Amino acid sequence: MKLIDGKAIAAGIKDQIAREVRAMIDRGEEPPHLAAVLVGEDPASHSYVKSKEKACAEVGFTSSVYRLPANVRQEELLEVVDFLNQDGGVDGFIVQLPLPDHIPVGTVIERIDPRKDVDGFHPVNIGRMVQGEPAYLPATPFGILMMLEKANIATEGKHCVVLGRSNIVGTPMSILLSRKANPGNATVTLCHSKTNDLASITRQADILIAAIGQPGFVKADMVKQGAVVIDVGIHRVPSAETSSGYRLTGDVDFDSVAPRTSWISPVPGGVGLLTVVGLLQNTLLAARGSVYPLSREQR
Ligand code: NDP
Repeated sequence: MKLIDGKAIAAGIKDQIAREVRAMIDRGEEPPHLAAVLVGEDPASHSYVKSKEKACAEVGFTSSVYRLPANVRQEELLEVVDFLNQDGGVDGFIVQLPLPDHIPVGTVIERIDPRKDVDGFHPVNIGRMVQGEPAYLPATPFGILMMLEKANIATEGKHCVVLGRSNIVGTPMSILLSRKANPGNATVTLCHSKTNDLASITRQADILIAAIGQPGFVKADMVKQGAVVIDVGIHRVPSAETSSGYRLTGDVDFDSVAPRTSWISPVPGGVGLLTVVGLLQNTLLAARGSVYPLSREQR
């Protein structure tokens, strides 16, 4: 078993991004600017936005956060989105999910200018991704592709089983792995809560990607000997051994599964770190106008 070192992989890519930012500044250009909209007091959302701000600082990006109360009206949130769409100083922005129940997520995402949608959630970016056109890829699947690439884990011809079909992780992951690209060119099976005899399918996986949202769900008897296992799940479980009173764990029962694998990504120290890198990469692409031919002067 080899551990996929998400920390080292993320650090290497961030170094490369930081070098590109320094080159931009040397040319007299502004560094990339990522903005985040944070609604309400959800502690996990606050911690994700904080880690995104920290990552921006590490690579030399400018970052800004627009904080709105949990009872914000839909129209007020959409006004902030409109403002950011038009702010020529912002290269890309995200609206941190989840949103309070009274605000329909789809309406907010569709209001974001696809050219600034660095989370890659807008239907235009999803559609372009499906067709293999230049697009901002959803940050978590994008991060997993980078992880596989940097760890030299080949996907071509492999049977990849993706557990979970959410719009932000499982479904785009299945599409990206089946694209005619590298990483990609895999044969993909997408599983969900209505899948019959799940274990018989996960046991066929050369590469198993668990994005199911259930702590420790994937057990040793669901994994083929020698498989690659990527754990997307993030859960806070109570722990008497940490000062915070909790520890992070994933969707995979690491201790029982790891000995069967050829490669496994840990939680923490795995996909989460690469997700932030995916967002940074998209913001750099936005600043360069690489995905959409839009110079900063045209905004
Ligand atoms: P969702 O809850 O949106 O989706 C979960 C998926 O798993 C659904 O498709 C659901 O099926 C399926 N599922 C749930 N229970 C079962 C079951 N018993 N058997 C088979 N399928 C099941 O989750 P997300 O995709 O948003 O997130 C998944 C996990 O990844 C979470 O732990 C989340 O915290 C984590 N995450 C981590 C990120 C990172 O950066 N590392 C980023 C985003 C998420 P159905 O569609 O039928 O309901």
